[in-house]
Amino acid sequence: MNIDKLPRIELAHLPTPIEAMETLSAELGGAHLFVKRDDCTGLATGGNKTRKLEYLLADAKEKGADTLITEGGSQSNHCRQTAAAAAKVGLDCTLVLNRGFADEETGNLLLDRMLGAEVVFVDDSTQRGSAVAETAERLQREGRTSYVVPTGGSNGLGAMGYAIALREIQSQEKALGVKFDAVVVASGSGGTQGGLVFGKKLFDFPAEIIGISDGEPRDELSKQVLRVAREAARLLNEPMTFAPTEVTVFDEYYGEGYGIPNEAMVSAVKRVARTEGILLDPVYSGKAMAGLIDLVGKGHFNSAQNVLFIHTGGTPALFAYAASFR
Ligand SMILES: *Cc1c(COP(=O)(O)O)cnc(C)c1O
Repeated sequence: MNIDKLPRIELAHLPTPIEAMETLSAELGGAHLFVKRDDCTGLATGGNKTRKLEYLLADAKEKGADTLITEGGSQSNHCRQTAAAAAKVGLDCTLVLNRGFADEETGNLLLDRMLGAEVVFVDDSTQRGSAVAETAERLQREGRTSYVVPTGGSNGLGAMGYAIALREIQSQEKALGVKFDAVVVASGSGGTQGGLVFGKKLFDFPAEIIGISDGEPRDELSKQVLRVAREAARLLNEPMTFAPTEVTVFDEYYGEGYGIPNEAMVSAVKRVARTEGILLDPVYSGKAMAGLIDLVGKGHFNSAQNVLFIHTGGTPALFAYAASFR
């Protein structure tokens, strides 16, 4: 099946721009760095989940859902974008959030409520799954039809958003007269990277896709990425195989763990703000940028290479992490 035949609801401002990060590149003295502004997808401050939600919401609508349910941490960008997407297409939304780091009523959590989502809190992330199931049962008893958006929007269907993002990058390469040698992206539930890995094969894109883990060990995240890429291929009946060697994940940049700030992240966020006027986020893109800066410093890329960093969004979380930046 042709990817363009899949039902899709347009939510994102596309194409998102690609900009050269000239000052940062010059300061680091290595490869030419570019940024794809997926923080500018336009949906309630944007981010990478918007592209996935274009497919997932079309599916929810087709299935007759009136309410979306999804889950995440209290500063989840995925949940905030899901709440915004639901508002935009006229669905209700219930978010199951776990308390943990930075769960003050600010940043994404403030926006979730502003966007009209119902919020159900659990004490830790291990309780989210059962709370989602209980929420679905409760809504059913109330006569509603719910649709569960998977964690991070990361299944084969959601990943289509990043497969077509690769095609978008290919046409921007032509317009800019640049060929990218590598694409670097923050990776968490594997949907973004899985979509890129699938898109790389579907659209014959030569650049290496590098995922920088937000908190998962390399082997686990690689498995997730492979699962999503394979699921996407199956959905389109593409006879593709994916080997573990086709997935590149670096897991040395998340520090103590998911959502826990560290010095390299703070320094990368400040550096990109001060050199490029671009705001990263403390949980994903800040740590991924710390990774990219380190890889450039170690000579992972040569100085003639073009490297595209996908800015996956997350800026509202900066306010929940204000203490780390003072
Ligand atoms: C969710 C998220 C990611 C990770 O994307 P996955 O598709 O879950 O791997 C990266 N950056 C930001 C800002 C996010 O919100």
